Amino acid sequence: MVERRKTRPVYVGNVQIGGDAPVIVQSMTDTKTHDIEATLNQINRLHKAGCEIIRVAAPTEKDAEALKEIVSRSPIPVIADIHFSPRIAFLSLESGIHGIRLNPGNINDEGKIREILQECKRKNIAVRLGVNSGSLEEKLLEKYGYPSAQALAESALNWSEFFEKVGFTNFKVSIKGSDVLQNVEANRIFAERTDIPLHIGITEAGPSGRGSVKSAVGLGILLYLGIGDTVRVSLTADPEEEVKVAYQILQSLGLRRKGIEIISCPTCGRIEVNLPEIVKQVEGQLGQEDIPLKVAIMGCVVNAIGEAREADIGLACGNKSAILFKKGEPVKRVSEEEMVEELVKEIKKMKGERNGGTA
Ligand code: SF4
Repeated sequence: MVERRKTRPVYVGNVQIGGDAPVIVQSMTDTKTHDIEATLNQINRLHKAGCEIIRVAAPTEKDAEALKEIVSRSPIPVIADIHFSPRIAFLSLESGIHGIRLNPGNINDEGKIREILQECKRKNIAVRLGVNSGSLEEKLLEKYGYPSAQALAESALNWSEFFEKVGFTNFKVSIKGSDVLQNVEANRIFAERTDIPLHIGITEAGPSGRGSVKSAVGLGILLYLGIGDTVRVSLTADPEEEVKVAYQILQSLGLRRKGIEIISCPTCGRIEVNLPEIVKQVEGQLGQEDIPLKVAIMGCVVNAIGEAREADIGLACGNKSAILFKKGEPVKRVSEEEMVEELVKEIKKMKGERNGGTA
């Protein structure tokens, strides 16, 4: 059981981050923000996949101007992602956004940052204070020689102190290093010294396969240490994949549950059914369903009985057939052709029972 670090709550619209809130899942659109319909379509799809806060890039005035309509029609709070330009930051703040992401290191003007924070306070807009190894202050680079974990943590601590000195507290921090260990260490140092909520993620993790592994390792270590109030898995892939992977990471640590949990064996020479295809079909039919069930799909009886006992429902496969288990008890024998249909039918029935009779 993970014991989470105690943090103070921050509010992005109606979503609480930190305090007693669960770890919140975020993603970022990859559409041109000024293409309002495309952006909203993607936000709606991400919301359906479980995304709870969405960040959209605002690199131009045209994008900042589109925010008003996006915010008014979005089902989840919207954060504007701002780099370099205080002018675009102010323009975005006029649109009703719920949060703004700023890297003070690339705005590099304390006066302007103070003005942005005052406006955020007036409008009750949350801030994500970002520190990246690529935009670290000169004085820290001189002190440490390179963007070390200590340098990143110190930058985040200094800027947090600045935010608090100007009377702004509705913010979370993200510290992004270029590799997993640097990232973990920088977040750990920061977490030891403050109760400010942390947004964690492994930046530019890569394509789906490699990026998911890298994210699972980095986020897994931090989350196991109790660090992380909101996550984004950054993949060079469809953002819906980011949300799916984020839930899988959180689910494996018992921090969130989304959809069914499939326990399936890796298969071996004992296999007598096409297990990968069966698993693929079950996941395809139920992957998006929000059913908190453990489903075991095992290639043979070697581990199946034990796993089936732990699972809510399962298949113990054999020679072109399987025993369907429920709560560890055999229910019936099904042929390979019937397996997916029967399992999905039973799972939907269990969902209906849990919802008080409505499937
Ligand atoms: S459950 Fe059976 S088929 Fe699957 S890996 Fe184990 S021994 Fe092999």
